Order: sequence, then C-alpha cells, then structure tokens
Amino acid sequence: MKYDVIIIGAGFAGSVLARQFAEDNKKVLVVEKRDHIGGNMYEKTMENGVRVHLYGPHIFHTNSKKVLDYLKQFAGFFFYEHRVVGYIDGNFVPIPFNFKSLEILFDEKEANEIKEKLLKAYPDTKKVSILDLLDNQDETIKRFGQFVYEKVFVHYTAKQWNIPIEEVDTSVINRVPVLLGYDDRYFQDTYQYMPKNGYNEIFENMLNHKNIEVKLSTDAKEVISVDTETKKIYFNKEEYQGIVIYSGALDELLNYSYGPLDYRSLNLVFENKEENYYQPNSVVNYPNDEKFTRITEFKYLSNQIVKDHTTILKEYPLTYDYKNPDHVPYYAIFNEKNLNLYQKYYDSVKEIPNFYLCGRLAEYKYYNMDAVVLKALDLYEEIKGVK
Ligand SMILES: Cc1cc2nc3c(=O)[nH]c(=O)nc-3n(C[C@H](O)[C@H](O)[C@H](O)COP(=O)(O)OP(=O)(O)OC[C@H]3O[C@@H](n4cnc5c(N)ncnc54)[C@H](O)[C@@H]3O)c2cc1C
Repeated sequence: MKYDVIIIGAGFAGSVLARQFAEDNKKVLVVEKRDHIGGNMYEKTMENGVRVHLYGPHIFHTNSKKVLDYLKQFAGFFFYEHRVVGYIDGNFVPIPFNFKSLEILFDEKEANEIKEKLLKAYPDTKKVSILDLLDNQDETIKRFGQFVYEKVFVHYTAKQWNIPIEEVDTSVINRVPVLLGYDDRYFQDTYQYMPKNGYNEIFENMLNHKNIEVKLSTDAKEVISVDTETKKIYFNKEEYQGIVIYSGALDELLNYSYGPLDYRSLNLVFENKEENYYQPNSVVNYPNDEKFTRITEFKYLSNQIVKDHTTILKEYPLTYDYKNPDHVPYYAIFNEKNLNLYQKYYDSVKEIPNFYLCGRLAEYKYYNMDAVVLKALDLYEEIKGVK
C-alpha cells in the first residue's frame, strides 16, 4: 500500500492527526512501538476487574469546547470533578490548599485572621500563587505563604524532581496555587469529564477508519530513517516524499547524537486490595512523609462498581535512564542545558520537507491532553494542503 502520511506514535498527537488525514481520504500508516494504542492514556483491566491507567492517572479537563466536542465523537463521557487531598500533619486536607485546609491545620482565631487578610489583599481573584504569597509585605500572609510552601510544595517537589528547590522552574511553582475560598476542585476548567468506558475506547474509535493502518510493536527506526544532511526521509529504505509526523522523542530518533535529553521517570507500583475502598479520595498526595508522592485509587476515576476489590497506585519518582528499556520518559526537565540541547536537535530537522513534530516528546514540552489534541488539530489545519 502507498501511504500519503506516516505517523509515529498512537497517543493523542498521532491519533488525532491520523484521523484528520483519514477523513480527508489520505492513506495513513500509524507506527507505534508499544503493543497497544493510546499513548500514556492507555488503560489496563486488572485481574480484579478494576481499570487502571497504566502510565499514571489521567484526568480530563479543558476550557476548550472544541476539544471536548471533538473527543465526544469517539466516546461517551461522564461528569467528573477531580478532588485531591494531601496528607499533612496527620490530616487529609484539600489540595490545592483552600480555606478548608486552613481551618483544619490552624486554630480558629488564626485561620480567621489569615482568611480575612487574604480576602482583603487579593479582592478580585479566586486563586493566588505561592510565589505571590511569599512576596507579600504583610507578615501574616507571608508566614502563611511559607507554611504552604513548606508543607505542600518543597518536599513534594524535591521528591518529584530530585533537584534543589531553587533550581525548579518557576512555572512549576506557579502551577501550585492557593484557592481563596472553599472550592475544593483540583482543576477549575469549564469542562471536566472522564470517558465513560475508559480512554482506550476513544483511541480505538479514532483509529478505526478504512484509511488508517496501525502497526504495533514497531519502533519508528525499523521503518523510517531521517538524513539530516541531505534532508531526506526514507521509508522501508526508499526515499519517501509524503508527510511524516513524529510524536516520539527527537533525541532518540537522531540516535542521541548530541546527547540525551533529561526527563524524570516514575516507578509505578500497583497494588490490588481486597476491600471496597482504600482511601477517602481518588488521589492522596504525600508531600512529606513517604517516599512515594501520591496514591491514586482508580475506582473513583472510572466510576466502576467492583465489590470488595480495589486497586491503588503508588508513584515513586525516578531518574530517567534512556538506556533502560523499562524507563518511560514522563516529565521533561526544563533547564537551560536541555532547552539548548533540544534546540540543536530541532534545528537539524526543521528544514526537512514534509517532516513535522507534534506532541509532548517530540516538542519536549509539558502538554495536558486537551492541549495536545488542540495542537494536533491546529497542525492538521496548517499542513492539510501540503503536497
Ligand atoms: C504521569 C503523568 C500524568 C499525566 N496526567 C495528566 C492529566 O491528568 N490530565 C492531562 O490532561 N494530561 C496529563 N498528562 C499529560 C498527558 O500524558 C499528555 O498530554 C499526553 O500523553 C500527550 O500525548 P502525546 O501523543 O504527545 O504523547 P504520548 O501519549 O506519550 O504518545 C506518544 C506515543 O508515541 C510512541 N512512540 C514514541 N517513540 C516512538 C518510536 N520511536 N517509534 C514508535 N512509537 C513511538 C509512544 O509509545 C507513545 O504511544 C500526564 C502526563 C504524565 C507524564
């Protein structure tokens, strides 16, 4: 078969693009190195019947109606607002830290004073970043900021990134707000849903199209090669002039020629339990006491009724070793060294005709699922007319 488009990776980036081209009557080949589609959203059903997210918990939330409507073509969704608690000083308290968390951890008089001052200092906003609290001139607010920084952020982040806190990118710190009120939802996006029968169904339906062929358990390098000197692409050893979209890691495709990009990985430990529920919430963060960062209990996320059985996941942060086949590159580490390195890889492929990068690995970015769907839809619009 002659393919108009070759796509590497069957996560959201690759699958959305494959579907878009297929709808336009283009013949598409999707090459995926794992033995399943769905990228990091893939779900597996455990022996006890509980569906788990094999690559860590994925909660769908977006402000984009376009993304939600697009995905709804492929699966049903149920309303789900995510709530997280942190285990702090022996208590389960809402995360992000809100007024309820404050009331649990401070005595009434102090909690009232802090709440009053916060509302006065930030009258027009529902959330404020820890950085802003730390910069506040008022001693009470500043001290409160330091408390949250220490109890919620410092140890959790140090565990997760394994670098001194000063080296953590401020965008990461800014992702941890304090909510000025009693809203205890983890996300404040307009649309918060989970797929009714799990994520796999979305991908199965998206890729189920007469113009799409999926080749599983096949690494990109088994079928394509990229010559950065001549700017040519080869498919099965023959020069290929159709469109190639790559959603894997760029350093890997180019044989780590400038050295590997750094990532944080995770050791994901699943445990089946013979009880109805293990913990009070879908996710409990452990900012201080344990070696793992959080425990997820999947029954809360899947809305499944499985009597007397449940499955939990403990996430132990891990340094990523690109030579270890069991390691998954989860979180890109945004520092000057890595961004410069990525730029070198990018510069060496950017002029290759009809070769496009899309997705969290290929672009070395952190994308939520909705952002990557949008990115793929936008890329399609940009290149659909390319011959
Ligand atoms: C632990 C964790 C939790 C997350 N939780 C959330 C969340 O709650 N909500 C949210 O919106 N987002 C979440 N995300 C982000 C989400 O995972 C990404 O937005 C999404 O995975 C991006 O899709 P993608 O297609 O770019 O990448 P991926 O899903 O990683 O897909 C890339 C695919 O390409 C394949 N591939 C790579 N290299 C090759 C190769 N050489 N040959 C063949 N195939 C290859 C991979 O096997 C993979 O299947 C989370 C991310 C992590 C790491």
